[in-house]
Amino acid sequence: RAKFAKLKNELPVTTDGHRVALMVNAGLRDDVGALEVTGADGIGLFRTEFQFLVSATLPQRERQMRLYRDVLDAAGDRPVTFRTVDVGGDKTLPYLNHDEDEAEENPAMGWRALRLALERDALLKAQARALLEAAAGRTLNVMFPMVSEPWEFDEARAIFERQREWLGARGHKLPAEIRYGAMLEVPALAESLDVLLPRMEFLSIGTNDLTQFLFAADRAHPKLAMRYDWLSPSILRFVRRIADQARAADVQVGVCGEMGGRPLEAMALIGIGIDRLSITPAAVGPIKAMIRSLNREKLMAHTEALLQHPPRTLRQDLKAWAEENGV
Ligand code: PEP
Ligand code: MG
Repeated sequence: RAKFAKLKNELPVTTDGHRVALMVNAGLRDDVGALEVTGADGIGLFRTEFQFLVSATLPQRERQMRLYRDVLDAAGDRPVTFRTVDVGGDKTLPYLNHDEDEAEENPAMGWRALRLALERDALLKAQARALLEAAAGRTLNVMFPMVSEPWEFDEARAIFERQREWLGARGHKLPAEIRYGAMLEVPALAESLDVLLPRMEFLSIGTNDLTQFLFAADRAHPKLAMRYDWLSPSILRFVRRIADQARAADVQVGVCGEMGGRPLEAMALIGIGIDRLSITPAAVGPIKAMIRSLNREKLMAHTEALLQHPPRTLRQDLKAWAEENGV
């Protein structure tokens, strides 16, 4: 622990000089303190649904706005990416009037996140207003969860743009810049990236949901957790393809799932060209230490070779490589 605390002011740079962006995942006002403690580059994923989940009634726009403004104030110069509410499915809100006869067999694949927000658009409009007001004079980074097709991104973005026009017409101070992004966690979206990438500023790969949908394996099922490995070739090849495509289109891309908070998994992601991770705050120290002992070019060549003729999982090979190379 003390060893990691000392790393706070050191940069996550590989031994061959490649800078990796290390951000944290957060959801509460107090989580922002993690930026100071860890020296992270910013908040790569702010889960706005936390405020909704801990609240007995729907948080009104003013209350949302205060939270977002406090978070931006506390983060200072460091960027924050707000994800619009990811509720529904298994994270039900008692005050959202779910119909009894609409009980879901598969809530993770159900009426949640953007699907719910586009239908109950008063919710998304209020959140858009709250975010736009909170970020007045600053950069607003906003991303949408569970985007499956480009039109969903377009509609959500249009809701934000209409709120921006509404506020502007009434003389409110607006964000200096708005950057729109999507989470890639539904595999179908990967097939439409050529359509969507030109319209967005950034893409964040959510490996928690992506893995469960890619393998059709419940992310919370203990039996399946052992069976599907984050270091399986199909996940790494899939993420590599998305990252290559985003980079070719000049769109910022990163990973914000829990996978990036585990040293071997994070190393594999860097090996396939990911250089932006948003992780749980406690993982920043260990991941930074790993990055600072890593020769990225050498790792990329090794990972590339492994993925050409992949074993069932890359875990053993990457572990051995890390040991041999002093990572
Ligand atoms: C993910 O799905 O990878 C993700 C980061 O979002 P959440 O864990 O909140 O679903
Ligand atoms: Mg998710």
